[in-house]
Amino acid sequence: MSDSDPVPGGRPGEVERATALTGELTGRGVHGVVLAYVDTAGIARVKTVPTARLPAVVAWGVGMSPVFDTFLADDSIVTTDVLGSPDGDLRLYPDLDRLTVLAAQPGWAWAPVDRITQEGAPHPGCGRTVLRRTVAGAAERHGIDFRAAVEIEWTVGRADAAGDAFVPAVSGPAYGAARQVELSDCAADLLAALAAEGVEVEQFHPEYAAGQFEVSVGALDPVAAADHSVLVRQTIRAVSRRHGLRVSFAPAVLGQGVGNGGHLHLSAWRDGTNLHAGGTGRYGMTAEAESFVAGILGRLPALTAVTAPSPASRLRLRPSQWAGVFTAWGRETREAALRVVTGTAGIRDRAANLEVKPVDLAANPYLALASVIAAGLDGLASSAPLPEETTGDPARLDPGEAAARGVRRLPVTLAESVEAFRADEVLRRALGPVLADAVTAVRLGEAGAVEGLDDDGVAAAYRWRY
Ligand code: GLU
Ligand code: MG
Repeated sequence: MSDSDPVPGGRPGEVERATALTGELTGRGVHGVVLAYVDTAGIARVKTVPTARLPAVVAWGVGMSPVFDTFLADDSIVTTDVLGSPDGDLRLYPDLDRLTVLAAQPGWAWAPVDRITQEGAPHPGCGRTVLRRTVAGAAERHGIDFRAAVEIEWTVGRADAAGDAFVPAVSGPAYGAARQVELSDCAADLLAALAAEGVEVEQFHPEYAAGQFEVSVGALDPVAAADHSVLVRQTIRAVSRRHGLRVSFAPAVLGQGVGNGGHLHLSAWRDGTNLHAGGTGRYGMTAEAESFVAGILGRLPALTAVTAPSPASRLRLRPSQWAGVFTAWGRETREAALRVVTGTAGIRDRAANLEVKPVDLAANPYLALASVIAAGLDGLASSAPLPEETTGDPARLDPGEAAARGVRRLPVTLAESVEAFRADEVLRRALGPVLADAVTAVRLGEAGAVEGLDDDGVAAAYRWRY
């Protein structure tokens, strides 16, 4: 069911299925369902319905204004030719395949939604629909499907910190055992909650920055991976709250230092075979995988308008912060934007993938995955050549060598990213004109909103919005 657009009246058999689910959920003490989507600024927005309403909701949806497509992270509103008006309404349709009982919010279940117009057509601002169509197009035109995962990094602050200050709730060192001990009860509850929700956690660890942690999850089809990225954050937030902690997924909580990333992992497959392994290209990539990587590499400056969309993203996107701010690729590199992951001998056919680093959790995960996949597919379709690998820290290359290799720093300002995005027909087409205009308007709106603020001011402005 999640492969198709919602249909007014419900997709065949869906109302019956929702009716059965309602009984089951009520029996489990679930009183309400959270219906969630992510706006252009990367904020998850919700409506909720009582559980008994679920059959009616899969038939006819729930109303919500389209105005959120041009909301900024501070809830102010910008406009485009078609979006941002106080008029109009949309219907939110939950995806029953993804309905999940929330383990850390007793009484609640959660489901991602697709948005359609009152007339029953897909809403052109629906990022989930755009991603689903991008993936379906790859299957149709290239016989390719994808496996994807979004890494989640976040910082844990004290809830009793004065004002909106960030005071790390833990003091142990990066990757340190002490820090794991400090968060022990909360982290164990988090692992239990994610397991109960059917999220496959691969790792949990204390990260580099003060109060920072990371969860990585198993790869899924891209729409499911984006859904999980939203669900995992909802769960981390809820578990942390129960432990009296405040969390931030903002790209940066402070003006200086390492930020929170949301690296994407992506691999292209055909007929069950991973195109990133067992090929005759570099590190086992097939020719198609090399071109897929080249397609993403060539569009990185424009992609950052989607993948690093906040003024706070620019605090994170700095050299020597492992955020991958140079247009380069390499095997297991931490400073190049694209890290080719071969995996360990013995499991390479399953594990090999591409990690895209200049991505953070202010990005709408549906739009980020759709854009990155579209860029890769364009490279694949045009047999784009993958340049030479760059190892080590690209910041240390002398300018001549960097230029010869095409290694450039990614845009420093949102305005530069928007300029590259506006000129990029492939990405604009991938999102469609309505969303492409929304991306441009929202980014420029965010840039305007922080004009005159210094780095600490920018960090403070977004610290608790994500
Ligand atoms: N926190 C880093 C970032 O902003 C990533 C650290 C890592 O390599 O896991 O992307
Ligand atoms: Mg990390």
